Amino acid sequence: MTIPPGSTIGIIGGGQLGRMLAIAAAQLGYRCHVLDPVEDGPAAQVADRFTNAAYDDIGALREFDAAVDVATYEFENLPVGPLEVLGEKLRPSTRSLAIAQDRAREKTFIESCGARVAPWREVSSLADVTASVRKFGVPLVLKTRRYGYDGKGQAWVRSRGDEQSSWQAIGEEPAVAEAGIDFIAEFSVIVARWADGRTSVWHSPENEHGEGILRRSTVPCSDVVEAQVSEAREAAVRIANALGHIGVLTVEFFASRDGPLVNEIAPRVHNSGHWTIEGAVTSQFEQHIRAICDLPAGPTDLVGSGAVMDNLIGDEVNRWPELVAEPGLHVHIYGKGEARPGRKMGHLTKVILR
Ligand code: ATP
Ligand code: MG
Repeated sequence: MTIPPGSTIGIIGGGQLGRMLAIAAAQLGYRCHVLDPVEDGPAAQVADRFTNAAYDDIGALREFDAAVDVATYEFENLPVGPLEVLGEKLRPSTRSLAIAQDRAREKTFIESCGARVAPWREVSSLADVTASVRKFGVPLVLKTRRYGYDGKGQAWVRSRGDEQSSWQAIGEEPAVAEAGIDFIAEFSVIVARWADGRTSVWHSPENEHGEGILRRSTVPCSDVVEAQVSEAREAAVRIANALGHIGVLTVEFFASRDGPLVNEIAPRVHNSGHWTIEGAVTSQFEQHIRAICDLPAGPTDLVGSGAVMDNLIGDEVNRWPELVAEPGLHVHIYGKGEARPGRKMGHLTKVILR
């Protein structure tokens, strides 16, 4: 059922993804109502309404439900149970969220969709970590099952003997141990899916990370990576279908010497898709709104011949005076307060027109 312009879209989570969703929604004539425990965040600054409440505040969620026509989330570390209040209004559903927020469930699910992941196993004790090192060798990465983002909740076991310090570094929490992949490059597939099963995908960006944080996305990706994109796209669409996902889903891949391996999925718009705002005919944010409101899909073609997106992390945002002076550079600043180290403060997109 189409949710027409003029309706109110609820956005749970108030960060930069919510901000860019709200801007895209406003262009199409929707109002946005943001719910977030932190006041005056990036999304609240551009939304029509804001509820300052904890994500598990059932009373606040009930009122939010009554005030919105459809709801979505821009953040995946949300408690799933309380969101059931929103029922069918929540797009994507809690199923996509529940699977994506638990690395063990996520990997099992991805494998059940016929896609490959790095060799892994669940760990819940130091003995499990040691057994994983025996099985997979080093380097190996421990990732907490829950609440990881931007490389947080992760520790590498680079040599035998590091098991204990790495296990302590992740807080001795239930985790997965994953073989370190000597990848050629990283890339992602961003897919939008509608309730009736239609899907659309963008050109895949090649992604460079530093200290677990995305630094740069480049479209189109290099030829070696491009050779793995069609297989990866098929896997991403199978995953979206199996989830019954509505809206944008991002699947991060390693281009390994042995073909594409899924790193993880995000049931939402993604940092590696920010280039689509100026670099694609329809942005990931607009397409997400189109999918959850059941409007027709927009074309995902490139505007020029490609695009490069660079994140502004921490105090890099202080370079804004020279950046805004650069002709044709699209500067995005998220309206966050303090430029703490490692914090995503904004991004830059350069569309390649030649
Ligand atoms: P985000 O939410 O920002 O995507 P995250 O905290 O969920 O990050 P991952 O995507 O799991 O973390 O890992 C962050 C980065 O660390 C990856 O993009 C990759 O560069 C590196 N990395 C993670 N797992 C592996 C692995 N098994 N082998 C090699 N590199 C890895
Ligand atoms: Mg990641």
